[in-house]
Amino acid sequence: MAVIRDVMPAFELFQPSTVTDAQKILEQHGRDAWVLAGGLDIFDWLKDRIKKPKVVVDLSGIEELKGVRTTSDSIEIGAMTTLTEVVSNPIIRQKYSLLSQAAELVASPQIRNQGTIGGNVSQDARCWYYRAGWPCYRADGNICYADTPTARNREHAILHADRCVAVNPSDSAPALIALDAKFVMRTSKGERTVDAEDYFIGPDIDITRLHILRPGDLLTAIRIPSTWAGTQFYFEKVRDRNVWDFPLLNVAAAMVVSGDRIAQIRIAVNGAAARPLRLKAVEDAVRGKPPSAATGEVAGKLAVQGAVPLQFNAYKIPLMRNLVKRAIGGVEEAKWSS
Ligand SMILES: Cc1cc2nc3c(=O)[nH]c(=O)nc-3n(C[C@H](O)[C@H](O)[C@H](O)COP(=O)(O)OP(=O)(O)OC[C@H]3O[C@@H](n4cnc5c(N)ncnc54)[C@H](O)[C@@H]3O)c2cc1C
Ligand code: SF4
Repeated sequence: MAVIRDVMPAFELFQPSTVTDAQKILEQHGRDAWVLAGGLDIFDWLKDRIKKPKVVVDLSGIEELKGVRTTSDSIEIGAMTTLTEVVSNPIIRQKYSLLSQAAELVASPQIRNQGTIGGNVSQDARCWYYRAGWPCYRADGNICYADTPTARNREHAILHADRCVAVNPSDSAPALIALDAKFVMRTSKGERTVDAEDYFIGPDIDITRLHILRPGDLLTAIRIPSTWAGTQFYFEKVRDRNVWDFPLLNVAAAMVVSGDRIAQIRIAVNGAAARPLRLKAVEDAVRGKPPSAATGEVAGKLAVQGAVPLQFNAYKIPLMRNLVKRAIGGVEEAKWSS
């Protein structure tokens, strides 16, 4: 069990001023190095002395990783842009308010001032056992402490578990998936871009990571195409306390309604599995249907198909069903009330 000592283990600190230098340092030190963004996730691990990297690469001096830029057909958000900047950026608020809503619900103003969008989508699991240093599957052990009849597992997964039942805790991730964002990475082989939904992985692919970044890789930016700009959005987060708390579940949807029918839709949830889930079956089922409570009902049922609760998180099944239902039917209410 971890004891908080507030004295971090010694490490060599690098503070590069370009992406090229940062990537070179990371490549040189491989598994010994750890990328530092806002530090809100990392400092816990260091202060608890659970993770002890030899090298820390601080990205805060790299100006090219900061800020929001517009291109002819997209916006690009630097990985080191703070969540507060994401929330307050006028273009994001005007055209991609799904993301500003999601980012505004992350933790507290202080955490949003320091935490970055790159760190938010790359943060680690918040499972109590893992964060306390218990030697579970995710920590290279051979047991899951959360998946037992008496374990504390209210916050854990109801879908796609594979030995580990931890969930991805990011609020911005499902909004970025719904907006069809692309994640831009710098690796030893050059630049690589992936769809937001492919950035995240479950324990079936690698039980020690929630994303595809490997030692030496950097997330440099997130691009949001204009395809979904200004469409109808729905974001809802449910948490135990209405301040400063991780999601138990959240849902993000972007929808184009033509006449009284759903012409196009992208919808994703987080907090249900080790990776944020794009609900493709739901998208296919509701396309061409009215954005009504009845369509939402069908969508909600479909979304939770195959869900398997643990001892203390069965509530997540009706919760997810209702969030998806409201994401479809709620847009209709918003339309009629405007
Ligand atoms: C009390 C508390 C409450 C919170 N509540 C919420 C919440 O409600 N919703 C929510 O979504 N989040 C929440 N968070 C998480 C918080 O938003 C994240 O910890 C934060 O966004 C991480 O960002 P950071 O910049 O501090 O990342 P860091 O802690 O610096 O890094 C996090 C991880 O990402 C990696 N990383 C970061 N940037 C890059 C990059 N550019 N390239 C490669 N790897 C990178 C780091 O190596 C590290 O592994 C909470 C955190 C705390 C402490
Ligand atoms: S849920 Fe995952 S992180 Fe938590 S104890 Fe089990 S294996 Fe470890």
